[in-house]
Amino acid sequence: MKTPQGLNTICVHEGEVDDKIYKGAVSPIYPATAYAYQGQDESAYPRYFNTPNQANLAKKIARLEHAESGLIFGSGMAAISSAMLSILNSGDNVIVQNQIYGGTRNFIKKELESYKVNYDFVDLNDEKAVENLIQSNTKLIYLETPSNPLMELVDMKKIAQIAKAHNLLTMADNTFATPINQTPIDFGIDIVVHSATKYLGGHSDITAGAVATSKVLIEPILHKARNFGGSLSDQTTWLLERSMKTLNLRVQQQNKNAAELANFLYHRDWIEQVFYPGLESHPQYDLAQSQMKGFGGMLSFKLIKEISATAFLKELKLVKDVLSLGGVETTILSPAKTSHSLLSEDERQAQGITNQVLRLSCGIENIEDIIDDFNQSISRIV
Ligand SMILES: *Cc1c(COP(=O)(O)O)cnc(C)c1O
Repeated sequence: MKTPQGLNTICVHEGEVDDKIYKGAVSPIYPATAYAYQGQDESAYPRYFNTPNQANLAKKIARLEHAESGLIFGSGMAAISSAMLSILNSGDNVIVQNQIYGGTRNFIKKELESYKVNYDFVDLNDEKAVENLIQSNTKLIYLETPSNPLMELVDMKKIAQIAKAHNLLTMADNTFATPINQTPIDFGIDIVVHSATKYLGGHSDITAGAVATSKVLIEPILHKARNFGGSLSDQTTWLLERSMKTLNLRVQQQNKNAAELANFLYHRDWIEQVFYPGLESHPQYDLAQSQMKGFGGMLSFKLIKEISATAFLKELKLVKDVLSLGGVETTILSPAKTSHSLLSEDERQAQGITNQVLRLSCGIENIEDIIDDFNQSISRIV
């Protein structure tokens, strides 16, 4: 087959498993856990991350992320933990962006600490502060952009430059943006990690993870991954491949919906603030333009103090008040009550994550229906 070029074509065709026997139009599933070893360099085995379904889907993710190599994992945290521990050993130091996913923060604070890996949380846009934290044992800078829940961006090019000047590696969690909207490797980031549970899966029914990086850096990650054992079953790998065929279509619609909704909310008198990198009012709008191709399906907003967030959520009929994000359905949640509930009230206030802030994951519905749902909820509670 000719190498697919366009984004939709890559989503549909890259990394297909050829059905040589029956010539079916889609990848067959190879569920075997036992494969021939004689005459093979390496026998296939699901925990080796090298079954036909796993190895082929990894190609699709690598291609989308402009990377040489990829790996598919059983969850986002399996990908993140294996990738981090392929670089960090006891006595090393990692510099981490202030605002990151709660599970990653827990992993760093609980697990890295028990491995005696040192860490510093910092605002990565404060270049001086980052430079000041770099020591001889610093190995890695870890970031997420846009961040959860206030959509703060990190200047990836700048961070990659600082890292390269000091011989450090960089790792970016690209879950929120997806490779459709942003390809960190093009800005000099070394390793990209994903929770494929979110947009890559896209239907709120798969837990998976992924890593994309160079041929050299994938080797130690693969070794850790095999030892930790966080592989994905071939049935779910196949379902993730099926889901990713529509990744570009879904994300384009989610981008469009989020932009329209952000604009709608920005002009409402019951809204105090909207956090969306595609809005001109976003403090890093210029940076968003320079490193993102689309601004994503995630946005947050702050209700004015006269409106109860709890009441607003309760009256929504179409938009689901559930955990997680990235599905074809629009979902909403209170970060203060979920992802950031372990912080103290003071810490939340300091970060601007009050009870009035809600985080929205735009689905692919007709946006008028989402806007109608918001309007009817507000009309019931004011
Ligand atoms: C959900 C999420 C993760 C963790 O992924 P799992 O698939 O739940 O293990 C990591 N990073 C971000 C940004 C996420 O949203």
